[in-house]
Formats: sequence, structure tokens, C-alpha cells
Amino acid sequence: MSVLSKPYFHDEAAAFAHLESVIWANGVTCPHCGACDRISAIKPNPAKRVRIGLKKCGHCKKQFTVKVGTVFEHARIPLNKMLQATYLLTSGKKGVSAHQLHRLLEVTYKTAWFLAHRIREAMRSGDLAPFGVGGGFVEVDETFIGTDRTIKPHGEKKGRGYAHKHKVLSLVDRDTGRSRMMVVESLKAADLLPILKANIAAEANVMTDEAGQYAHLSDSFARHGVVRHGAGEYGRGEIHTNTIEGSFSIFKRGMKGVYQHCGKQHLHRYLAEFEFRYTNRVATGVNDGERSKRALGGIVGKRLLYADSSVA
Ligand SMILES: [Zn+2]
Repeated sequence: MSVLSKPYFHDEAAAFAHLESVIWANGVTCPHCGACDRISAIKPNPAKRVRIGLKKCGHCKKQFTVKVGTVFEHARIPLNKMLQATYLLTSGKKGVSAHQLHRLLEVTYKTAWFLAHRIREAMRSGDLAPFGVGGGFVEVDETFIGTDRTIKPHGEKKGRGYAHKHKVLSLVDRDTGRSRMMVVESLKAADLLPILKANIAAEANVMTDEAGQYAHLSDSFARHGVVRHGAGEYGRGEIHTNTIEGSFSIFKRGMKGVYQHCGKQHLHRYLAEFEFRYTNRVATGVNDGERSKRALGGIVGKRLLYADSSVA
């Protein structure tokens, strides 16, 4: 026996039962009218095309399964395979490529690619609460990744400099262990400050390196600690950015090893994936099974905004 021998990875009825236990932990709810009672299960019958997991609401008389209104709704692959993919994407530190999923799940590459994006959407946190509430420590740093093909390099030699790369701003709340990453267009102080103010509480202790864009943060936050990397410094006591550098190294290894080519239009989903795994890591008390369950809990109420046909 292993984790992978769990029935819900192999049997569709068990997969529905598992997903229902996560999504409807407080009881079945009709996705059409919101009713929580008078809901009956309809016995599956392939001859009459009655699907597994079908329910009927006694109030609005509509039928539904647990997939209705979630990112899994229109996926045409067995639910047990979608649960396998969710487990694979949430358990490894660096993620799984669409090519690996295509081979492991024995589905087409296109199906695997699209399924991975559905799961990334499930991992996307809708949480907008600021970091550093109550005077906590928040580390802020930026990193550069891939090539932003929407930018024309001006006099920059190929492969040098950062102007042509995607710019990723990241925050880590040292006390809660949470991470938040976002693609930004510019690293100028005037462009970054509104983003930082929207994501970090004014009473926070903000930790950055000596980069110019962070020079005046003490005007906006209770305290600004600066690590002078240029002077060979790694930190002084609680003034350091070691936590966020650790999260970046996982992110960069994953993006390099697993997701080599990532267009700008999809980058935010990969960020959501790394942010999710980092926030829900073993050090914050979340094991692989629980992490997978939390991702499944995130499938509700989200939609992918692009059509199946846009899959490259
Ligand atoms: Zn209803």
C-alpha cells in the first residue's frame, strides 16, 4: 500500500466521494439555488446516461454534481485522474510539467496542459489580507525570470541585464510563513509603493535589500530594515531577507527545471502554484495529503478565463 493506492485515485465513484467530502464538508449545497436540504442522490446508470455523483435539488429541481461551478466542471477526463494530477502538482516542491502529466496520466498533452492550469487556478489564493498585521516581519524582494517578449531590448546585449525579463515581486510574512508573488511591469519606487502599501500593513517591520526602489519605505511602514548585500552582509539579527531568498531559490529551480518556457499571459498562474506550495509547506504544518486537499478546496467559484482552443 502507498498513498497512490488510495481508491479515489483509481475509481471514479470513490473520487467523487472524496471530492464531495472536501467541498461539501458542511453538507451538500445546491450550486444553482444554494439550498442545503431536500437534495437527493440519483443512482448512476450508464445505460440511461446517469453520471456518477449526480444529485437533484428538491427546491429548484435542477441536477448537479460536485464539479458544477468549479474549475473541474468542463474537464472531460475521469475525476480520479484529476485527483492524481492535483496530488502530483501539490506534493513535489518544484511542480510537474505538462509533459510529465501527459505521460503519467496517459492523456493527451493538450489535456494535461489544460488540467494543470485548472489546478493552478484552484491553488490561487483569493486572500487579500495584508501581511505583517500587528507589527509582524515582512520580507520583500524581486527576481527576474524568463524573457518578456512584449519588451524590446534597447541597446541591451542578448542575455544580459534585466530589462527584458519578467519581473516578479514577492513578499513573505515571516510570522505566518505565507508567500505572495506577483508579476510587475516596473520596479520603480513610484510603481512599487502602491503595491506594497496595498499588501503590507502600515505597522509592519519591512525587510529588504539596499535596492534603490526600497529607499524610502520607512515613510510608509513602522520600520524598514535594510540588508546591505553589496557590502557582503547577510543580515544582522532579525534584519535579513533569508526567508524570501529561500523561497526564490525553490521558485527559480522549479521554473528552470520544469517550466522552461512560460509566456507572460500564464506566468501569474505559475506564481500562484509556487506561492500555494510555499505557504502550505511542511514547515507551516501542512503535509502532502493536506496540501492536496487544500488545493481541491480551492476549485469552487473559479473559472478559467481563456477557452480550451487557446491551448498552445
Ligand atoms: Zn437548487
